[in-house]
Amino acid sequence: MTRDSPASEPGGVPPLSEGDPDVSLSTENLALAVRQAVADGLLTEDRPLAGFLDVRGVRESVAALHEAFAGVPDVLHAFAAKACPLVPVLRLLADAGMGCEVASPGELRLALDAGFAPARIVLDSPAKTRREIREALELGIALNADNLAELDRIDALRPAGCASVLGLRVNPQVGGGSIGAMSTATAQSKFGVALRDPGARERVVEAFVRRPWLTRLHAHVGSQGCPLPLIAQGLAALHRLAEEINARVGHRQVTSLDLGGGLPVNFADDCVTPTHAEYAAALTAVEPALLDGRYQIVTEFGRSLLAKNGFTAALVEYVKEAGGRRIALTHAGAQIATRTAFMPEAWPLRVSAYGPDGMPKRTPVVPQDIAGPLCFAGDVVARACPLPALDEGDVVVLHDTGAYYFSAPWAYNSLPRPAVYGCLLQDGHVTFATVRPAQSLREISLESGRDHADALLTGFAAPSLP
Ligand SMILES: *Cc1c(COP(=O)(O)O)cnc(C)c1O
Repeated sequence: MTRDSPASEPGGVPPLSEGDPDVSLSTENLALAVRQAVADGLLTEDRPLAGFLDVRGVRESVAALHEAFAGVPDVLHAFAAKACPLVPVLRLLADAGMGCEVASPGELRLALDAGFAPARIVLDSPAKTRREIREALELGIALNADNLAELDRIDALRPAGCASVLGLRVNPQVGGGSIGAMSTATAQSKFGVALRDPGARERVVEAFVRRPWLTRLHAHVGSQGCPLPLIAQGLAALHRLAEEINARVGHRQVTSLDLGGGLPVNFADDCVTPTHAEYAAALTAVEPALLDGRYQIVTEFGRSLLAKNGFTAALVEYVKEAGGRRIALTHAGAQIATRTAFMPEAWPLRVSAYGPDGMPKRTPVVPQDIAGPLCFAGDVVARACPLPALDEGDVVVLHDTGAYYFSAPWAYNSLPRPAVYGCLLQDGHVTFATVRPAQSLREISLESGRDHADALLTGFAAPSLP
């Protein structure tokens, strides 16, 4: 979080730090936001969990991304909607100059409701139905086919005068990073046309030769855990393929390269590393011509734009001991930190502790498990975490959770989707705007078939007579 006024707050909270694109949500600004959230009643017995996004931080991250690619004359930065599929957040990003990458009918709907122009939306889902393809082409939304069979469908569905930019996703098969589930360019990945398989490259080139309207190549090498050199290697292969296709058809048919997203995020401290500028530099180092302006460039970053601009706050309900370990039972668990609960080594989270007044906790530091409210043993977001000794009514904060955490909840135990608030730091004050209210019990019941309550008693059609 950043601010522009140097005024100091009454009440002992240190002045807010100045804007620095390489540091997000500084400890001081986070403390100020937590204290104000508690004072404003955003964390209560009824709503003991909430997500927060620092609006100015988001704008600064988007500005830093634009700056990193300032040397490319034609670039569309499409935010990967799955990283934070919330309409007000998407609208903020549209206002900040971004496009939007979507991968399902739901995400497409959110992007349109957020106000993205169709030409600034890219549809990437791996399993598009004919109806989805037809609707996207009619709206003029850019679309990347996942495979050659999808190109055949597009052949049949493309309307005359179709405004959509059409591309093909390829898998450069450069290998995986440290998290298998985040590695999309392995030999047997489900995504794209596997470029190094026997005969595949030739089939891709021929697919372009036969389709003059196919003008884009797309690759997404991987997300969290994929090192920059691996991403750069995969995107260099994409560029070389574009050059090969253009040489074969004898003119520059491929005019744009869609580079996927996947800049890893540092979850260990407040530093933004690697930066989008380092990403661009890594690409240029491996393939100098990639960003030289001859191709329009599309990017699809998600986590790297939002993770460090968000946090989750939850009340501590009970504190207990088991087997010599102190355990805080909080309201933040696997329902908002699903990956962390199931793969704690791959997705570690920083946690910090605040008192019931929202002030930083000053009790002696002891190792504690930060557990959630779900009924399964793996529902722990941090194990043996050295934190000031927590008590009932305290607040725990999960750092760097602006992407894929509170915005991607899991409905286990019928727990509600938490409220999400935008926060704005200005002149030493924090104000909040509701992005999404917490899900009500009525909404949970409705989503759970309440209107069909009798379905299994009286809902079957009468058997047809012989
Ligand atoms: C998920 C995804 C992204 C965004 O990945 P991040 O790691 O959030 O940056 C971009 N492109 C595609 C095709 C994706 O599936």
